[in-house]
Amino acid sequence: MDIPYRVGHGYDIHRLQSGGRLMIGGVAVSENTSAIAHSDGDVAIHALVDAILGAMGWGDIGQSFPNSDAKWKGVASRVFLESVCKRLNDAGWGVANADVTIMAERPRLGPFREAMVEAMSRLAEGVVNVKFGTNEQCDAVGRGEAVAAHAVVLVAKLPESAQ
Ligand code: MG
Repeated sequence: MDIPYRVGHGYDIHRLQSGGRLMIGGVAVSENTSAIAHSDGDVAIHALVDAILGAMGWGDIGQSFPNSDAKWKGVASRVFLESVCKRLNDAGWGVANADVTIMAERPRLGPFREAMVEAMSRLAEGVVNVKFGTNEQCDAVGRGEAVAAHAVVLVAKLPESAQ
């Protein structure tokens, strides 16, 4: 069927460590905690990238940006989102909207919501909503040992004039 919409889902989790800078949703949310990761470990952007890849049937983030490739070591995750959105646009599609849920007991993320919405909306060129949860002291996220994110995205075929 030639339906001009596709939906995708993404999920990511990273353990936290002391020191360094923690990036979530394209925003620096801590200067004394960081994610244990090959890239900067931005769970929200990783989940969003996986959702877009999923919508297009393009596999997962590990296939597009393998952590065995030194090229991606320490890279800012916005580069992944920019890259995947460029590929999406080149294929004649764009992000309609995305809903991103970020789970973190620490650090407190509320003050960064608007900056995350602005950063991810700009990078994805679509409407991005950000929600927060804490996991209520359950599991690694709830104990403050990790942060996680879920993302759902709708991508739409661009009008011919925009392609
Ligand atoms: Mg990740």
